[in-house]
Amino acid sequence: MFLLAAALAAESAPPRTLRLDYFHTGTAAGEHFALDGLALEGPWPGPLDKTLDDTNLGKYFFVVIDRRTNQVLYSRGFASIYGEWETTDEAKEQPRGFRESIRFPLPAAPVQVVIRKRDRQNAFREVWSVLVDPADPAIDRAAPPAAKVWAVMRNGEPRDKVDLLLMGDGYTAAELEKWHADARRLTEILFAALPFKEHRGDFNVWALDTPAAESGVSRPSDGVYRHSPLGAAYDAFGSERYVLAFDNERVREAAAAAPYEFIEIVVNDRKYGGGGIFNLYATVAADNAFTPYIFVHEFGHHFAGLADEYYTSDVAYEAGAQRLEPWEPNATADPHAGKWKELIAAGTPLPTPWPKEAFESMEKEIQAKRREIRAQHRPEQEMEALFRDERERITRLLSGGPYAGKTGAFEGANYQGRGYYRPQQDCIMFTRDEVGFCAVCRRAIERVIRLYTH
Ligand SMILES: [Zn+2]
Repeated sequence: MFLLAAALAAESAPPRTLRLDYFHTGTAAGEHFALDGLALEGPWPGPLDKTLDDTNLGKYFFVVIDRRTNQVLYSRGFASIYGEWETTDEAKEQPRGFRESIRFPLPAAPVQVVIRKRDRQNAFREVWSVLVDPADPAIDRAAPPAAKVWAVMRNGEPRDKVDLLLMGDGYTAAELEKWHADARRLTEILFAALPFKEHRGDFNVWALDTPAAESGVSRPSDGVYRHSPLGAAYDAFGSERYVLAFDNERVREAAAAAPYEFIEIVVNDRKYGGGGIFNLYATVAADNAFTPYIFVHEFGHHFAGLADEYYTSDVAYEAGAQRLEPWEPNATADPHAGKWKELIAAGTPLPTPWPKEAFESMEKEIQAKRREIRAQHRPEQEMEALFRDERERITRLLSGGPYAGKTGAFEGANYQGRGYYRPQQDCIMFTRDEVGFCAVCRRAIERVIRLYTH
């Protein structure tokens, strides 16, 4: 009787979370992995009956295999800073390394952890394999650093809900009231957007207080440097608006105090900026006039691996140049859009006509003004005014025409003006217009929500 009760109690308690930290180094020509360490975190925050990832998202994919039975215990797709960096010019010149982590439920017996990467045909191929013994005394079992975690919105047990963790960076102890207000404001912004709005009850939102010595984060192109708690900074890969936190250990150690599956890093700054990497984290500047747009757009990258549907380059189209099919759910090289054909109404022309030339000439003019504002270090209000003007003109253009609001295959997506197609004329992954996610993006987000909830 006592033994049975004890067994049931053991069964109902979730396993702990095991974090595997590793080094990911290389050049554009090849990459290497090496074990950094293992750490035990709090209770596993996900559902234990949905351990296998069937969404086909991510540039990388990891599987945890039971050594004795060869059964796959856990799998998940993800993307990484390394995965972006290896496509930059710098990667052709010199090697670089990044620290990364994957997390899975603590196994009961030794496992093999395998990381796979997509090849050019999108097939996953093994790039690293490592043995993990849960009895290994080298696993760090120390409690995570004490940090104040609080619930912005709690709708149930972490195992039944998507757990989103908001982490503030560049907020001093005197600014914690502002941080709390920002965390609540951003939560309301996310859950005003479909499909998050109708799935509000499927989420818990947690927030972490990590007070900084100085206000704000590093903005190297403005000559501003800060040692902020999470190390988030503007100018990632030389792009002024791109905010990333390169020090994985700082982020992971702080996050370990909370139950989480997704992370939003909020930087205490007004300058336009953010970023989002699938299954790693998203970032956003707290105080820009376009913070609602940046937050929801970048969260789309982080949460559902959505592609940028926009393009700004006027790179000459090479006739016959091969366009590889992106793994992202909302961009395709297929002019008939087989990927989302169920959502296309019969009779819709494919590719679908849209006012492409008018759009491109407006954007060309706006981009030139944008470059000028940044080159002259003009006040942020001027950039915000430019974006407001852009939003008004582009919204007017894209809300008209016979295929506005319809799903089809609209040429121009994934940074390319030609050869890639997006699902609708307008979407928050395409412009800063207040149009929310298109039908294909909404469907992709709902698939991820289902993977983490009951
Ligand atoms: Zn979309």
